[in-house]
Amino acid sequence: MAHHKKERTLAIIKPDGVQRSLIGEIVKRYEKVGLKLVGLKIIVPTGAHVEKHYTLDPEWKKNVGEKTIAAYKKQGVKPPVEDPVEQGENVLAALKKYFTSGPVIAMVWEGAHAVEIIRKLTGGTEPRTSDVGSIRGDYVLDSYQMSDMDGRAVRNLVHASGSIEEADSEISLWFSDDELIDYKLVQEQILYDVNIDGVFE
Ligand code: ADP
Ligand code: MG
Repeated sequence: MAHHKKERTLAIIKPDGVQRSLIGEIVKRYEKVGLKLVGLKIIVPTGAHVEKHYTLDPEWKKNVGEKTIAAYKKQGVKPPVEDPVEQGENVLAALKKYFTSGPVIAMVWEGAHAVEIIRKLTGGTEPRTSDVGSIRGDYVLDSYQMSDMDGRAVRNLVHASGSIEEADSEISLWFSDDELIDYKLVQEQILYDVNIDGVFE
C-alpha cells in the first residue's frame, strides 16, 4: 500500500467560485493545511466531459437523489421528486449547464489523507447546512430548495472527490500523467519525516 502522504485528490473550483473571485481563497485553504498542488489548469469543460465525470460511478445518480430526498425530509418538506434516480437525472442536466457556464480551475492535491482533508475543508454539499469554517459554509448560501425551485444546480463553489477510488478515476479524466508533477516541498520534512532534524545550523 502506498504511504498516506502520497494520496491524491481532485478539486475543481466551479464557475461560480471563479466569478466570485474566490480562486485565491480556496487555493489558500488547501495549501495552508499542508497539501501539495501537483496539477492545475483553467478550462471550460464540455457537457459530455461533465456527464462522464458524474457517471464514472454508476450509483451516483441514485445516491445524489437519495441525499437530496433525505435533506428535504430532515427539513420536514416534501421532496419535489420522490424517485432518487429521476432526481439524479435532473441534477445531472443542471450540472452540465452549471459547469459549462464559464471557466473552472481543476486541481490535483497530494498529501496525507488528501481526499478526506479536502472534503472536510470543502464542507457538505448544501451550503445552507454545511459547517461554519468550511468553504461551502463560509462563502455561499445556496440550498436544495432554492436551486430546485429555480431548476438549477446547487451553487457550492467547489467539487472535491468523495473517496480514494473516485479520486483516482476523476484525476485520470481531467489530467494526463505528464500534467502532474512529482516534486518535494520543503515543508514535507516537518510534516512527515520521522525525525525533525536539520533545523539548527
Ligand atoms: P458533492 O459535490 O458534495 O460530492 P454530489 O456528488 O452529491 O455532491 O452532487 C454533485 C453536485 O451536484 C453538488 O456539488 C451540487 O452542485 C449538485 N447537486 C447535488 N444535489 C442537487 C440537487 N438536489 N439539486 C441541484 N443540484 C444538486
Ligand atoms: Mg460527489
